[in-house]
Amino acid sequence: MENKDLLQALQAGEKFVLDGALGTNAQNSGLPAGVLSEQWVLEKPECIQKIHADFINAGSQIVLTATFCANPIHLADTPLAGKSAEVIARAVEIVRAAAVDRLIYVAGSLGPVGKLMEPFGPVTEDAFFAGYAEQAKYLIEAGADLLVLETQYSIEEASQALKGIRSVSNLPLVVSFSFDRGIRTMMGVKPQVFAETLTELGADIIGINCGKGLDENTECLKLVRQATDRPIWFKPNAGKPEIDADGKTCYKTQPEELSTRVPEWLTLGAQLIGGCCGSTAEHIQAIAAVVAA
Ligand SMILES: [Zn+2]
Repeated sequence: MENKDLLQALQAGEKFVLDGALGTNAQNSGLPAGVLSEQWVLEKPECIQKIHADFINAGSQIVLTATFCANPIHLADTPLAGKSAEVIARAVEIVRAAAVDRLIYVAGSLGPVGKLMEPFGPVTEDAFFAGYAEQAKYLIEAGADLLVLETQYSIEEASQALKGIRSVSNLPLVVSFSFDRGIRTMMGVKPQVFAETLTELGADIIGINCGKGLDENTECLKLVRQATDRPIWFKPNAGKPEIDADGKTCYKTQPEELSTRVPEWLTLGAQLIGGCCGSTAEHIQAIAAVVAA
């Protein structure tokens, strides 16, 4: 059996359950702070595979690869320098292995590169374009079904990244922004401006992920809905990030509480729903129960 065309299915009104957070779940399984999940893709693939498998068992139909930081620009400053192609090929294989024979969509994750683009940072526009083109090319070669440019915060960076990705790919493309300041990204971008601009630039799906709490993300969703006719991807954190007594960031919204918000998100037009930081397989199961109802 083959996956159906994702964009056609969305156009027909179908809804999809996404996965939860890879990073916070890897940390809960022992990934040390400061070590990239990509390191585990090569060294402890069984741990990454288990996280994917738990999400798939919970109902995730679209699963992100552990390649958020696998842009060659990002890896250049890490022990994985020069290993983008290897990490990406392995990361896609791990998702496929986790799915066993279930039909899921493998979503190639492309996160920020860890440094700002000029004039605010050291990465030139050309290097930025080339870095994303290279990461996208490896994801396509590895067999990703769609690409997800996520946790973005700047119109200029996301536009350049989108152009780089589109120079090598015509796979369905999600562009998802993180509204870290509540209803603004860390660079001050408003949801409406993001949605309008990226729609014009040709993103197939407009997304919101990570950011602040559920109320802020829901507000962003309303504003995005007014500014685009594209399907909406919605992956909020399990509540507002809080700092616990040991200085660790934690997320306290429980699965049942999260699931009570899902009907509102569906009504507001979110068609692909999952979780970001702090969301576990239990959170995804609670979301899936509502989306599938
Ligand atoms: Zn997050």
